[in-house]
Amino acid sequence: MPVRTRVAVIGAGPAGLLLSHLLGRHGIESVVVDSRSRVEIETTIRAGILEQGTVEILSGSGASDRVLTAGHRHEGIELRFDGEGHRIDFTGSVGRAVWLYPQHEVLKDLIAARLTAGQDLRFGVTAERVEGAETDRPRVLARDAGGHTVEIEADVVVGADGSRSVVRETVTGAYGGSFREYPFAWFGILCEAPPSSEELIYSNSPDGFALISRRGPGVQRMYFQCDPGTDAEAYTEERLWEILRSRVPGVTLNEGPVFQRDVLRFRSFVAHEMRRGRVVLVGDAAHTVPPTGAKGMNLAVADVVVLTEALRALLLDGDESLFGAFSDTARQRVWKAQHFSWWMTSMLHRQPGASDFDHWRQLGELRSVVESAAGRAYLAEGYTGWPLAR
Ligand SMILES: Cc1cc2nc3c(=O)[nH]c(=O)nc-3n(C[C@H](O)[C@H](O)[C@H](O)COP(=O)(O)OP(=O)(O)OC[C@H]3O[C@@H](n4cnc5c(N)ncnc54)[C@H](O)[C@@H]3O)c2cc1C
Repeated sequence: MPVRTRVAVIGAGPAGLLLSHLLGRHGIESVVVDSRSRVEIETTIRAGILEQGTVEILSGSGASDRVLTAGHRHEGIELRFDGEGHRIDFTGSVGRAVWLYPQHEVLKDLIAARLTAGQDLRFGVTAERVEGAETDRPRVLARDAGGHTVEIEADVVVGADGSRSVVRETVTGAYGGSFREYPFAWFGILCEAPPSSEELIYSNSPDGFALISRRGPGVQRMYFQCDPGTDAEAYTEERLWEILRSRVPGVTLNEGPVFQRDVLRFRSFVAHEMRRGRVVLVGDAAHTVPPTGAKGMNLAVADVVVLTEALRALLLDGDESLFGAFSDTARQRVWKAQHFSWWMTSMLHRQPGASDFDHWRQLGELRSVVESAAGRAYLAEGYTGWPLAR
């Protein structure tokens, strides 16, 4: 017998779980499935920067109090280039801030909220395909950990299943979306050591980009620009620290044992469509941004805010207008974030084969940002996040 619900959500990442939580507050029932286990979801370290609007949604909707108590409010970042650091004061420029609160902590809070509310949340269930997109009762065909078929029939199916989405093709067809691959990647490490800096440092050095960040009181997250073909195991720890030190001249790094390392490819993607009939895409399933602007998880939240309102109107009032406009509405912010992420990336990274002219032009661009109130405000506004559509 198929499971019947109002909204079937594929993926228990930030997008899927938040959507289910916000729908629940309107009395709209949903079923969320995820192929991974709860432990895996709650321990995978990924994003860390939450825009102010994301924090307001999480705390204001009762999804997370801990974001305010355990998260760290950051009122600025440092841009470093030409041997000097320049603070971008977010609150002074635009009266807003960001919070450092790891994505897996957000997920722990959302999972706890869903289970406390008695919602149907199934781990170890993998969606294989979606059928009936153009009907009023689309269906998800999935398989549980024991290999049994699970069929979910709903008013609306939401693909919140990340960058390798199986739902995407149902929505976009062969038409796909706009794609760009960058000629570099980030080598990321997690290490056990206290923070080297109170605020994040984004550094443009002659050898390439580096980011100094953290994920908790005793854990630091650091990245440096590398070739996309780099083998994460190829460097000794000593060599990793040597590279990082050379990328942030003038900063003393607190060094400690490296317990995770990965190479993160840089890609941009935006699906041409985020809805087909009664099937919708949100979050990384619909778009990918390079991580420089810290926009990925925040964009997932922004999509969900727009979609919640559209589903409320559709499922409670029978009004299809917001749902019909969902793709166009959501994509406006997606492209702003895509531009911001591309801009931060191009301003801070060294392009392979860059000329002397390119290098000096880049420093000129950075100076024009840090030495102008309008430049600092432009960066602060994009980084802390434009107001969410309500
Ligand atoms: C190293 C790293 C650092 C990052 N840093 C930042 C940052 O600082 N700020 C920021 O905003 N963003 C950052 N991001 C991006 C951010 O993590 C993603 O944008 C965010 O996770 C997207 O959320 P989502 O819910 O759309 O997708 P995901 O988090 O990918 O969740 C999708 C879920 O769907 C499940 N799933 C997939 N396929 C299926 C299937 N067939 N059936 C059932 N379930 C399925 C997956 O198991 C997963 O749990 C970073 C990403 C990485 C990798």
